[in-house]
Amino acid sequence: MSRANAAATPMFQQYHRAKAEHRDAILMFRMGDFYEMFFEDAVLASPILEITLTSRGQSGGEPVPMCGVPVHAVDGYIARLVESGRTVAICEQVEDARKAKGLVRREVVRVITPGTLTDPQFLDAKDHRYLACFWVDPEGIGAAYLDLSAGDFQVAEIDGARRWETLEHQLSSFSPREILVPEESERRQWFQDHAEQAAVRTHAGWAFDSETARQALLDQMQTASLEGFGLGDCPRAVRAGGALLHFLRQTQKDDLAHINRVSLHQESEHMLLDAATLRSLELVRSATGGGKTGSLLGVLDRTRTGMGGRLLKSWLLRPLRRLEPIRERHGAVGELLECEAEREAIHEALSGVLDLQRLLCRVTMGTAHPRDLAGLRDSFRHLPALRQILEKLSSPLARQLWADLDPLTDLSELLGDTLAESPPVALREGGILRDGYHAEVDELRVLARDARAFLTDLEARERRRTGVASLKVRYNKVFGYYIEVSKANLAAVPDDFVRKQTLTNAERFITPELKETEAKILTAKDRLVELEYDLFLQLRTRVAGAAGRIRSAADVVAQVDALASLAETAARLDYRRPEMHQERRLEIRDGRHPVVEVLGGQERFVPNDTVLDARERQILILTGPNMGGKSTFLRQTALLCILAQCGSFVPARRALLPLLDRVFSRVGASDNLAGGQSTFMVEMQETANILHNATDDSLVILDEIGRGTSTFDGLSLAWAVVEHLHQGDGGRPLTLFATHYHELTELDVTLPRVFNQNITVREWEDNIIFLRQVVDGAADQSYGIQVARLAGVPDAVIRRAREVLENLEVGEFTQEGLPRLARSHTPGLADPDAQMSLFVPKDPVLENLRARLQELDTDRLTPMEAMRILAELRSRLD
Ligand code: ATP
Repeated sequence: MSRANAAATPMFQQYHRAKAEHRDAILMFRMGDFYEMFFEDAVLASPILEITLTSRGQSGGEPVPMCGVPVHAVDGYIARLVESGRTVAICEQVEDARKAKGLVRREVVRVITPGTLTDPQFLDAKDHRYLACFWVDPEGIGAAYLDLSAGDFQVAEIDGARRWETLEHQLSSFSPREILVPEESERRQWFQDHAEQAAVRTHAGWAFDSETARQALLDQMQTASLEGFGLGDCPRAVRAGGALLHFLRQTQKDDLAHINRVSLHQESEHMLLDAATLRSLELVRSATGGGKTGSLLGVLDRTRTGMGGRLLKSWLLRPLRRLEPIRERHGAVGELLECEAEREAIHEALSGVLDLQRLLCRVTMGTAHPRDLAGLRDSFRHLPALRQILEKLSSPLARQLWADLDPLTDLSELLGDTLAESPPVALREGGILRDGYHAEVDELRVLARDARAFLTDLEARERRRTGVASLKVRYNKVFGYYIEVSKANLAAVPDDFVRKQTLTNAERFITPELKETEAKILTAKDRLVELEYDLFLQLRTRVAGAAGRIRSAADVVAQVDALASLAETAARLDYRRPEMHQERRLEIRDGRHPVVEVLGGQERFVPNDTVLDARERQILILTGPNMGGKSTFLRQTALLCILAQCGSFVPARRALLPLLDRVFSRVGASDNLAGGQSTFMVEMQETANILHNATDDSLVILDEIGRGTSTFDGLSLAWAVVEHLHQGDGGRPLTLFATHYHELTELDVTLPRVFNQNITVREWEDNIIFLRQVVDGAADQSYGIQVARLAGVPDAVIRRAREVLENLEVGEFTQEGLPRLARSHTPGLADPDAQMSLFVPKDPVLENLRARLQELDTDRLTPMEAMRILAELRSRLD
């Protein structure tokens, strides 16, 4: 439908003017009590909002599609559109419809995008929502991340050969909901492909210009230089950060005073966790269901405030890498663990503290209502108590937090003196301010109150005068105040009553005295509402003026909350302080899986030791029965390291841990399905990533790699991967490798830093009992058939499987009694023939078998055919 032909009424002309400036957005056009959407916007929005598509007027002979939502419920509808990745522009009536001459003036007052949603109703209290912006040039990438509602603003300068990979890490750890790139960017698609949840959009190229962007940052931070933020030498980060601010100013049109700080995010300061690792270790989301329950964060988080919750989550997503700050956090957690009374007092104080960061955002953006300010006031009242508790603590971090915590007593007093104890949400209904704060407000209140008393009095007087006991003084919007007398009593009505309206059973009158009082009441009320509104805005502006101080206090509260939460978890679940060191040795005694031990059901969790050492025990090959607990053991080791580096205590009797630069976790094929690619392909991509990027300081968890392809291919790949990690061309990461390929356990014969452990079971009659203890040595069998039996596979199949297994096992060793795979293997692997010979025995009978096997199309074989061929192979061997 062409715009040019659209209904050409002045209203539609106004609509098109507004829409022309916000082509990407769904325009919500205020018309009285509704926000209406027209044309393509209506067609797009009505199914998302589940509202009826109607029409209004015509355009080019066709009806103009329209749909609308009521003003009072608009927030929910905006949130739904924004959650679906759309941008919404609110076109408001900016003059009073009663006073307007002709068409009411309308303007777009706010644009809400997926990355800039700030309404607390629609935000997860304990989750950040980032808007990101990127500048890419041939030498590097500038990144900026902003959580508008919490005022968290970080930028990063990413260069070097691995910059795209670093960027991927950042995308998975910040998970931005919206991404901005310059108009002319060729990378738009890349971002679309790599940021799952984000809406990617372009922003004016000139806003990324170095000088424009620098100025935008300076204006926002109200400083003369960016050196103080460490951005002196970060030209790309500045471009991205400045352009992001420019976008914000364009869309929000509000003051953004709470964004008064920008920090430089330095990758080298953090342990890197890629998307696959975050997923497979279920750090912040469980694999089943995708929620927090069942994740590490779910077990860990005992924070009392939204800001503490968000901070704890970011600690987990970006663990530290330097010893000193890690030890500082451990010190504070340790002290809070011991000082139970202080910990409880902190929790109590925090229970009264609301989300200061988000309230502050509403204050500076001018959307805070009186109850929001009362929320700030009530929260501030707890700060002195919190400070007193911190004063009693002596760990360096607690001391620092004590020194940094501004108790904001002046603001708390200001709000206390000004605001009513329980003010309303509404801005224009009065009742906002405390009695005694403002003389005129008090006077008007007395007037309004007296007038009301006067009316009651007048009613009583008129009743006496007329002798009509049912006479009433009432109010409606059309007549204002009036006197109502029932038909039966009309005879008693005096002459000075002026008739206004006749109803079936009654008549309504006014008197001069009544109208005079009415004028007083209504004027006083109007004036009172206006005055309270103005005074409230002044108060809000004053609070906004203290944004920097409130922001700092909120940051301290968030840290105290996160640390106290870690201490509380440690106390309840018996976590111990890990010892961190710069050596490449990891020693965990009686370690437990933090999530399985809590949510694992009836079974008591069996603790286990993990000992890895770069010189002697670099790579653990872990075998054991299905369901034995291999994955659990691998993951618990990784989780303990991550917990320790984010400052937490760990579920173990004792832990000596190295400082890791990265943790890689790769889990078996069937555990992970990524859309559009084969599971094996994804598995190998992730394995490639590990082989390219693991360093001496990394920890690698490989859980059954190679499982997604044929046994021989899978085994060969797994074998070669272990050799590569052992050889360590790129680095020699500490590695835990769980496998069902028992052949891999032979690697410890030839590779000095490889060692075997297995998870124990005991056979009892025809059953197995999982002992779940990790012991030295390789497992002797997999017990897959027993586990299948436990799982309810029919007995006939189990019996037949045992027969087949016995047949297969006969061929597992050579005539010399050597394990086949290790037979001609030599360490070092320089000779490719040596490697080939691992899998290609020169024996003619075996060659014959090999040829027969190679011609098989295993994907198409039926189980019966497979059995037949197995029997045939067996007879050839004989
Ligand atoms: P598979 O080889 O079939 O993938 P697995 O050896 O990796 O199995 P896990 O998935 O780690 O086994 O563990 C199976 C179940 O055993 C887990 O769901 C967990 O509840 C329980 N479990 C694992 N380790 C322990 C332990 N140390 N103590 C108690 N229960 C455990």
